[in-house]
Amino acid sequence: MDKSALRNLPKVDDVMNHSAFKALAQRTSKAMVLSEVKKGIQTQRERILKGEPPLEDILGFLYQEVEKITMQAMSYALRPVINATGIIIHTNLGRSVLVEEAGEVLDSVNFQYSNLEFDLDTGKRGLRYSHVEDILMRLTGAEGALVVNNNAAAVMLILSTVARDQEVLVSRGELVEIGGSFRVPEVMAMSGATLVEVGTTNKTHLKDYAREINPKTGAILKVHTSNYRVMGFTQSVPVEELVALGETHDIPVIEDLGSGTLLDLTPYGLSREPTVQEQVAKGVDLISFSGDKLLGGPQAGIIVGTRRYIDRVKSNQLLRALRVDKMTIAALEATLRQYIDMEKAKKKVPTLRMITMPLEEIKARALRIHEKILLGDRVAVVEDTSQIGGGTYPLDTLPTWALEVTPLKGAQSFADGLRGLQPPIIARIREDKVYLDCRTIFDQDIDAVARGINHVLEV
Ligand SMILES: *Cc1c(COP(=O)(O)O)cnc(C)c1O
Repeated sequence: MDKSALRNLPKVDDVMNHSAFKALAQRTSKAMVLSEVKKGIQTQRERILKGEPPLEDILGFLYQEVEKITMQAMSYALRPVINATGIIIHTNLGRSVLVEEAGEVLDSVNFQYSNLEFDLDTGKRGLRYSHVEDILMRLTGAEGALVVNNNAAAVMLILSTVARDQEVLVSRGELVEIGGSFRVPEVMAMSGATLVEVGTTNKTHLKDYAREINPKTGAILKVHTSNYRVMGFTQSVPVEELVALGETHDIPVIEDLGSGTLLDLTPYGLSREPTVQEQVAKGVDLISFSGDKLLGGPQAGIIVGTRRYIDRVKSNQLLRALRVDKMTIAALEATLRQYIDMEKAKKKVPTLRMITMPLEEIKARALRIHEKILLGDRVAVVEDTSQIGGGTYPLDTLPTWALEVTPLKGAQSFADGLRGLQPPIIARIREDKVYLDCRTIFDQDIDAVARGINHVLEV
């Protein structure tokens, strides 16, 4: 072992007084730089004790290591990415992008006090849900509304309110699993209700429900088969027939609509989905849907329904554990306001804008990016298909335009390169090519995408 090498190791104080380290400490955190410097010197000491030769430029090496670690620790873990997958409601990429107006409202309620639970007319305590209740009632025609953390919470809260310690009838064709963590039987168990399966996987008749009704029946639940379809020899009972059955026995009918659109999207090439307003008009007692799927708002579970049942849900103690923050209410109100004018909503709510975007506009965007590509022969503008995502429209795709990249060093390595950029670009790989769908790339990201492709093609 080389004793002089040990003696020559820099002292912690000296390193910290070195101008480069001082500047780094000022930019990041003195405590963190100090702790990393100590660790770094200790590592070098251990290396020398093991008989390894000392480093030539130990100070330079230390600086590189400490800078890398502290800069990493100081940068945000949650940050923006460019979604070039063409999946509009991409759950892993944050589902819906908020309307621009949400930014102003979030600023004003986050950095100032607000009337969150304060009634400005009476000067008394108010309800946080009241800020979106009126607009939800206006848009859906329901007698009442409230909002919780997400749709899974909404379903659990509804079941716990109307069917705790009672039985709930669900068709065997609707025992849904959404994204692994939401499964109808499990949510039912958590809410304290007992699941009673009726009918078969492919066919359920009204008489299947009717046969199971007894004094312990608490509710009839209809679950929208958001992310799959039962096709072929099939039958399910229309919700209006369930409503009539429920009325005869004074049992509430509840519906988990899942994505819950306020807009008929068939003119844009998607299959027919029931809108929230239609289900309200059919007399469903309680309807729940997500805030961040087709509605295009923040994560939330929206419940609309009849006065009688909404009031019961509002007085459930569980509501306190599922309540939404003021940021959610602000962002949701900003989103819902767009829907007062449906044409405006299609242009301003990003989720809707991307669904209803004309094909020529997507092509123009693809061409604008392609113009900026230096190795033009490696990149082509091609027709492709986009998906809605978020467990909605499982069978539908939308025609789109994409950039098709044929990288020299393999598709995986090219996609990895794009993902490593700042901001990261998330693309799709298919048969040794990389596809960047221009439907979900925003206009303000056109330069970043072109620069990113150019950069990764060259390395
Ligand atoms: C998406 C979905 C849910 C879960 O909604 P979250 O808002 O993600 O909690 C529940 N039920 C159905 C039918 C869905 O489509």
